[in-house]
Amino acid sequence: MHTDQQPVTARRAIEVEGLHKSFGALEVLKGIDFSVERGEVVCVIGPSGSGKSTLLRCVNLLEEPTAGRVTVAGTEVTDPDVDIDRVRRRIGMVFQSFNLFPHLTALENLTIAQRRVLRRDRAAAEQVARANLERVGLSDKESAYPAQLSGGQQQRVAIARALSMEPELMLFDEPTSALDPELVGDVLAVMRGLAQEGMTMLVVTHEMSFAREVADRVVFMDGGIIVEEGVPERVIADPQHERTRTFLARVL
Ligand code: ADP
Ligand code: MG
Repeated sequence: MHTDQQPVTARRAIEVEGLHKSFGALEVLKGIDFSVERGEVVCVIGPSGSGKSTLLRCVNLLEEPTAGRVTVAGTEVTDPDVDIDRVRRRIGMVFQSFNLFPHLTALENLTIAQRRVLRRDRAAAEQVARANLERVGLSDKESAYPAQLSGGQQQRVAIARALSMEPELMLFDEPTSALDPELVGDVLAVMRGLAQEGMTMLVVTHEMSFAREVADRVVFMDGGIIVEEGVPERVIADPQHERTRTFLARVL
């Protein structure tokens, strides 16, 4: 394979080295090293307040790291000269709260950034939008406004919106935590489909069955460090650290 000739960093989707993040006197990330390969699905688990969201937000520079290096698809985003908007365009992000524009239809929610950021014309943007609504099973909802959709449908529109920008990788921060239990499955099914298509995904989640079945690797964070990481069969089924065992005993 020719890829063996490329530098390691170009094959990696995300590389995080010595990442520290403080908010004032509060040190939230205390030296994080990890990487995500292209096509890999990595789930981040850990107790509330352990720094999972902050880690995700440092990857696309929604938070500025206090120290360390973050490289996304071969571009060092912590380089002060980087054009961060260009890098962010290549990263899809899905939050716990769906953040759709309430005054726009599902279709319009999917076309607006394509038209403004990628400069696609209306017809091209709508073609991509419809393909992605179909991908998340919502072709029949293109004219609906967010308030007319269930939480699960809104989150699937949010995923389709991110996909319409044709990202190289997707970040998910507890995408099902705000949903009624009966709506969680449809969103996880969409994410499972993306994983099967080979999308690179970094997913913060409390859904242990999803992590166990879909993740290539699970990262357990506690207190601003990575306590352990590995294949799900090891980290979830046979954790090596007491802190991991304590956490899993509470969530499983
Ligand atoms: P998790 O996602 O694992 O629940 P977070 O990354 O959201 O954890 O938060 C980790 C810690 O950082 C928490 O103590 C939180 O209160 C603090 N924190 C997060 N964002 C900010 C911020 N913008 N300003 C101050 N403290 C913050
Ligand atoms: Mg969080």
